[in-house]
Amino acid sequence: MISLPGQKIAVIGTGTIGAQALWQLAKKNVDVTGYELYSPGHSRGAAGGESRLFRHMEAEHIEYLPVTERADTIWNELEMESGRRLRNLTGALMIGSEASPSTDNALSAANSLGSTTEILTRGEAQKRYPQYALNEDEIAILDKGAGTIFPERTVKAAADAAIGRGARIVRERRVEDIRQEGDKVSIATDEETTLYDHAIVAAGAWTATLLPEMAQYLATRRLLSGWFLPAAGRSIDGLLPYMRLDPNYSYGLPTADGLAMKLGVGFPHHLPVTSPDSAPMRIEDAEIEPVRAVARDLFPDLDDYPMRAQAYFEAYTNTRREYMNFHPTMPSVFVCAGFSGKGFKNAPFFGELAADTILGRKPSIAEAQFILDVEHVAKLPESRAE
Ligand SMILES: Cc1cc2nc3c(=O)[nH]c(=O)nc-3n(C[C@H](O)[C@H](O)[C@H](O)COP(=O)(O)OP(=O)(O)OC[C@H]3O[C@@H](n4cnc5c(N)ncnc54)[C@H](O)[C@@H]3O)c2cc1C
Repeated sequence: MISLPGQKIAVIGTGTIGAQALWQLAKKNVDVTGYELYSPGHSRGAAGGESRLFRHMEAEHIEYLPVTERADTIWNELEMESGRRLRNLTGALMIGSEASPSTDNALSAANSLGSTTEILTRGEAQKRYPQYALNEDEIAILDKGAGTIFPERTVKAAADAAIGRGARIVRERRVEDIRQEGDKVSIATDEETTLYDHAIVAAGAWTATLLPEMAQYLATRRLLSGWFLPAAGRSIDGLLPYMRLDPNYSYGLPTADGLAMKLGVGFPHHLPVTSPDSAPMRIEDAEIEPVRAVARDLFPDLDDYPMRAQAYFEAYTNTRREYMNFHPTMPSVFVCAGFSGKGFKNAPFFGELAADTILGRKPSIAEAQFILDVEHVAKLPESRAE
């Protein structure tokens, strides 16, 4: 169902994707209200930990390359509009074993991207980036336009930009119920129930609780990050963000002050939980051990004891491709969920796509139509790493 001029739209969840959708709708002069359980820029869902990897390179679905190009453009627009620096594009490395299918995909992506990438043999990579201890069979691809996105700051920047253009945000308020009422949708909090013409639900790891029919597509998972300082007498100057492909997927980003490296591991370590509301925040030693193993294995200059460890929450689909479509039974509700550990870099595009779809506009890039094919959530083979 498509929105007409003069209609009212609600955005439930103003986190990574919801804040972008809110801003896009406000830019189009839509009467839009956001609802947020906490406040934009909080770190209790999927947008915490001060850094996310922005990369043009793809090792799985190279059909996303134009999506990331569009996201890159919108990130720059948001930086201009907010007057805040939202990314630090230092370049990043994608590391992979020469024999792996993921590395083959990555090399195809590098070829498509051309001079913005550089393929390095193990020897070349070790010479230029001696801080990484690569395996004998590994190569590295330098993605020159990649780097760090500052997640809390970007969510707040998008929400503030939306407010600057007339959007409202109901903060620190949980939406408890969403119902189709004829051709409208009612949004209920513990204080009031309001009718809207449409709603975009971008409730992240809380989506299956809020919309039980979405539980068939989504699993909520708990992801750990660990921050590591240099070992005594060692320096981590010049470390770039990186991503290492299968079989032992890991990724890392230097902190903004350059004093530590944040590391994370892949999908098999992201344990399912019922909801972020009831999941443990305490991190047991055994849980953080796989992250410590990355520090030991890949970074000879890091101390392997984390100075800090934190849990975050994300909704995954079976195929680890996002669900971007109308709700199965509520035609006035568009759901953005299941970004499966990789939604941040393309968040501005997903926000734009949600806004365009609900307003009946064509997606800004034709190639993105496949994202709106809800069947892809069920029919694609499982992806591997993230
Ligand atoms: C540890 C970790 C590392 C990651 N690394 C990367 C990376 O390097 N690069 C990358 O591209 N992606 C990465 N991702 C994935 C990316 O961060 C997520 O895909 C993205 O943040 C998901 O956004 P979201 O809007 O779905 O969820 P969120 O950002 O969590 O937003 C959901 C919002 O909905 C609100 N909400 C929920 N329920 C309600 C309710 N009932 N009423 C009102 N508000 C509600 C929440 O408070 C929250 O603000 C990573 C994810 C994690 C967890």
